[in-house]
Amino acid sequence: MTMTPDWTRAVKLLNSADCVCLACHIRPDADALGSMLAAAQVLHGRGQRVVASFGDDPFAVPAILRFLPGLELLSPPGSYPARPDVMMSFDASAPGRLGTLAGPATAAGELIVVDHHASNSGFGSVSLVDPDAAASAVLTAELIGRLGIELTRGVATCLYAGLMTDTGSFRFSSADSGVHQLAARLLDAGVDPAAVSRELYDRAPFGYLGMLAAALGRATLDRGAANGLGLVWTTVTRADREPAGLPLDSAESVIDEIRRTDEAEVAVVLKEDDQGIWQASVRSKDVIDVGKAATQLGGGGHARAAGFSHTGRPDEAIAALNGALDEQ
Ligand code: 5GP
Ligand code: MN
Repeated sequence: MTMTPDWTRAVKLLNSADCVCLACHIRPDADALGSMLAAAQVLHGRGQRVVASFGDDPFAVPAILRFLPGLELLSPPGSYPARPDVMMSFDASAPGRLGTLAGPATAAGELIVVDHHASNSGFGSVSLVDPDAAASAVLTAELIGRLGIELTRGVATCLYAGLMTDTGSFRFSSADSGVHQLAARLLDAGVDPAAVSRELYDRAPFGYLGMLAAALGRATLDRGAANGLGLVWTTVTRADREPAGLPLDSAESVIDEIRRTDEAEVAVVLKEDDQGIWQASVRSKDVIDVGKAATQLGGGGHARAAGFSHTGRPDEAIAALNGALDEQ
């Protein structure tokens, strides 16, 4: 599906709205939450009422994102309007990704969808979807510019966090010259890049080391999987997190260790959430479209970074993924 972002309509709607309700995808990453908080700060800063949330139950901001400016504008999803007049959705490819806020999204008078997933379902009444954008933060920055609003340091920091994580710290092929030019504008607006990267990548409680050791220690390499290109996978169990009382999001960075494996095109980390459901992070390097495979398993994502959920045993999740990969 080709989609052209309808900037004119989005700007018109936002300029005339008294109150704007914002939502981003569940278990938010820096791109989802950063983009939403950037927009929330901009709208709030010019005197509009904003409601900003995400539909996780229980509602908690991931620990590594608690440095983002604008968190004070967040509220739990329980107090979210059931039928917002004007709503915005950030980094979600389909209403289901909004969790408990899928209802308000469906009932909203107008729904502006800011997203960069190729798998975007086309939901919402105003599309700001561009699969070529490196991050939803790129689209959010464009929108803020079109609203004629200068970037504050707080807004720029939220956008920079999203840009940084979705480009793998400016290492992925998506980190093109436009991305670096936006990064330069954000730095000019006052972002402290060392502080942001330290918060996102370079700190963890001591207990993280034990959890990481357990996960790395049981990593498995299947050289024949992924059409002979190799698949490496591991798990992070509730028991791994329990001794240090680590939340699920502390397991997020484990995939970045696993995916270095030279012998594997595809890397997977199955993270057991507090309900015992496996949340899979899947990555590929050059060839395999893991977004397509994850979509087949009820999840989604991008060609090189995707995810899905599995209820049952972890080896079954890997077997199901292998089945989807073999079809490619
Ligand atoms: P991560 O592994 O960092 O959680 O997710 C990688 C990518 O896959 C992100 O773009 C994220 O939005 C997407 N993704 C992760 N889990 C799911 C899922 O359960 N459903 C869908 N549709 N996308 C997911
Ligand atoms: Mn994103």
